Amino acid sequence: MLGRHRAARDGPARSCAPRFARSIERLRVRRFSPDEIQPFQRGFLGAAVAAGIPWTDDVDDLDGQVGCGSEPMNVVAGVRWNAAFAYLDPVRDHRELTIVADATVERVLIANGRAFGVQARVDGQPRELRADLVVLTAGAYGTPEILLRSGVGPAADLREHGIEFTRSASAAIGRPGGASGGRSCVPRRGSRCCGAGLRRPMALQVVRQPEIAAYLGSPLRFPPDIGDSALDQWIRSTHTHIWHPAGTCRMGPDPAQDAVVDPRGRVHGVRGLRVADASLFQKLPRATPALPTAVIGERIADLILEPRSG
Ligand SMILES: Cc1cc2nc3c(=O)[nH]c(=O)nc-3n(C[C@H](O)[C@H](O)[C@H](O)COP(=O)(O)OP(=O)(O)OC[C@H]3O[C@@H](n4cnc5c(N)ncnc54)[C@H](O)[C@@H]3O)c2cc1C
Repeated sequence: MLGRHRAARDGPARSCAPRFARSIERLRVRRFSPDEIQPFQRGFLGAAVAAGIPWTDDVDDLDGQVGCGSEPMNVVAGVRWNAAFAYLDPVRDHRELTIVADATVERVLIANGRAFGVQARVDGQPRELRADLVVLTAGAYGTPEILLRSGVGPAADLREHGIEFTRSASAAIGRPGGASGGRSCVPRRGSRCCGAGLRRPMALQVVRQPEIAAYLGSPLRFPPDIGDSALDQWIRSTHTHIWHPAGTCRMGPDPAQDAVVDPRGRVHGVRGLRVADASLFQKLPRATPALPTAVIGERIADLILEPRSG
């Protein structure tokens, strides 16, 4: 791990530090003791140190130097401490909260440029849920999908699928930004992936060390003279992604510049509709996205609670 939050050291990101601290506490992020880490991880860290990357006890230190170390995780007694445990469980019994489980949102209800609820299927039955404010948190795939089904998106694409156009949104909607750099991965038999977040020459030095060699297969060679469909198949059979889609409803001041939501998470052109999930990342975080996504949730919640937030 190489000083991953370095970019967050200065500027506005610094101001997020209290929210990061709050999310870290709520999600119970903790450091693993050396005996908790897996043999592959131990092998990787041994190889990194052998390749000249110094050990660091705190890979999240914004002022720290390049180093490698064990990654803090939100794992308690072998269970991921997820957002529902962290944020929902403490308020489940709140009298102003109603949780509708087993519900799939089909679209946002919009009239005269204002959202007034959602159309959902609850236990398989259609149901209309009304609200003054709709906040979409269906993730980097789900949120743009719901927006598109609501008629919010590029007009031509919507028409092609027979969806009534409500409001134009960036042509980037629904196009995932991809992963944050293959930093962590569990090796599978037959898998050649060694995501390490290391720049190429350094990564090569690490994977050549004996400490990691036992866990790695032979190097993956790009097949020569291969046609498109065979290439697709080859990629599918030899690669895996790391489940970090983001940036499908990007945040920005100008809808003409690929922005779907404004800097306060409000969908451009639709009142009473916000997004608060990984889809609004403008740039992919260098670190893994779960914690920054929790911070997005904290930030949008704070903005909603501001007087006359809109
Ligand atoms: C297997 C796996 C391992 C991961 N490991 C890590 C990790 O170690 N570290 C890390 O930082 N990140 C990790 N990630 C990524 C991380 O989980 C995501 O970046 C993060 O959860 C994004 O949060 P989100 O709120 O945007 O979306 P999500 O957490 O995906 O939440 C979206 C929710 O909306 C629901 N939904 C979608 N569509 C609808 C609909 N139409 N109606 C109703 N509900 C809907 C989904 O079921 C889901 O519950 C991992 C992801 C996966 C899949």
